[in-house]
Amino acid sequence: MPCPCQSHQAYGDCCQPFHLGHQTPQTAEQLMRSRYCAYTLKNIPYIVATTVPSQQLLLDVDAMTQWAESTQWAGLEVLSHRPLGKLHSLVEFNAFFIEEDECKAHHEHSLFVNIHDKWYFVDPTVSLPTQKQPCVCGSGKKFKHCCGAYLA
Ligand SMILES: [Zn+2]
Ligand SMILES: [Zn+2]
Repeated sequence: MPCPCQSHQAYGDCCQPFHLGHQTPQTAEQLMRSRYCAYTLKNIPYIVATTVPSQQLLLDVDAMTQWAESTQWAGLEVLSHRPLGKLHSLVEFNAFFIEEDECKAHHEHSLFVNIHDKWYFVDPTVSLPTQKQPCVCGSGKKFKHCCGAYLA
């Protein structure tokens, strides 16, 4: 089947190896695509596993599951992929969905951080450290000098 992330590749050649754990996304954009794709396939464990480890227990898995199940996804458009130094990256995208017979877009800038050669999503909707506390990514830096600097 064509990959739901709309890369125009087959699922088996695109996001599936990431979902099965056979490969690791090499870029933040690949991770973002594979997370969107996981939402369309209702693969919530993948969404959890690709969120920054310190945030995983804070995620509302029930709400995520309900959202994935109730949403009629209509496609993905990656607008930009902006590396910020070596360890951070911002991906801007539109995720399209159908609501009341209309196609709507969810527009987002997502922040990703690289921890030990693996990309993770930094979720801005769960409670975050204060500016002076250690960063969520475990870098040992203050939040404001690390991931916090890129979250609007
Ligand atoms: Zn894909
Ligand atoms: Zn950080």
